[in-house]
Amino acid sequence: MRIEDAKIIGALPELSVELRRASSLAELTSLAIGGTTDLLRIKKHESIPGLLSLLDSHRVPHRFLGGGSNLLVGDGELPWIVLQLASPEPDVVLEGNFAQVDAAADLGRMVTYCAKHDLGGMEGLIGVPGTVGGALRMNAGAYGMQIGSYVREVKLYRAATRQIEILRGEQISFEYRHTSFAPDDMMLAVKLELPSKAYREILQGIRICNEKRRSSQPLGQKSAGCIFKNPPGASAGRMIDELGLKGLGVGDARVSDRHANFFVNAGKASAKDMLALIADVRERVRSAFSVELEHEVVIWNA
Ligand SMILES: Cc1cc2nc3c(=O)[nH]c(=O)nc-3n(C[C@H](O)[C@H](O)[C@H](O)COP(=O)(O)OP(=O)(O)OC[C@H]3O[C@@H](n4cnc5c(N)ncnc54)[C@H](O)[C@@H]3O)c2cc1C
Repeated sequence: MRIEDAKIIGALPELSVELRRASSLAELTSLAIGGTTDLLRIKKHESIPGLLSLLDSHRVPHRFLGGGSNLLVGDGELPWIVLQLASPEPDVVLEGNFAQVDAAADLGRMVTYCAKHDLGGMEGLIGVPGTVGGALRMNAGAYGMQIGSYVREVKLYRAATRQIEILRGEQISFEYRHTSFAPDDMMLAVKLELPSKAYREILQGIRICNEKRRSSQPLGQKSAGCIFKNPPGASAGRMIDELGLKGLGVGDARVSDRHANFFVNAGKASAKDMLALIADVRERVRSAFSVELEHEVVIWNA
């Protein structure tokens, strides 16, 4: 979608918003799949209510992009624009056991920065790509931990009130890859409370998690992490593996040989290929185990 309206285009500089024409979502997502659309980079949180009311009044549909590491985006010209936060300097500020972090901050860099200042707890998140905002939205987690456990406050743009607000941790429910934020809420910053831990000890935990990932995930390949959520008490990857589906493909979309719940783009896979593969695997799991697998990957296909 192209922003054509002169009123919107004229207002962007004052709002500290940069317009990037015809951005390729294939270049902005870890699966390297997706068509093109205009992208707005937002440099000031305070501009967001004004920007969104301008877009809404001109009926310009939009989506929020973080680091693009959990997204499967449709092919061709996309029917909405994309909003993305630019990261300020510095994007992490520490005070005692609290870390005030911008939503645009890189998740891995934030974990390492806190570790270097003897703040731990988030070792499992090393190796999870993307931004802190995306991790909050998805309640990212691994190896028995999730980011939500450390959240004390979230600064967000709330679609319901059209204002920037601060929610306390206990006002938000963080579940397995699910949060109580409304679909149109935009995460802007978070305050985390982290346990004190010696850097050496945190580093040890990080090494163990890195090793687990290296030995089980196709890290050099284009993926969006796990495609399906694990059903209660079961493992989606194990079910897919038991059906002998590793290596199954549609075009260049493949079930990884290393981890059956990672689907990779082995070349020039389209969204159509990947969606067909996901539907096929889901159907096979349904008929073999009577289990409806739910997507973990967020699909932007309309
Ligand atoms: C190799 C690999 C390994 C992975 N391992 C893990 C893992 O162990 N555990 C895990 O949980 N995930 C894992 N993932 C998935 C992914 O990295 C996480 O879900 C990550 O937190 C997504 O962050 P992102 O910034 O890339 O979000 P995006 O992919 O950009 O967006 C994901 C969703 O969050 C929304 N969103 C993003 N930013 C904001 C914002 N500021 N405000 C509101 N909504 C926003 C988007 O609209 C979208 O709905 C892995 C992915 C890869 C490629």
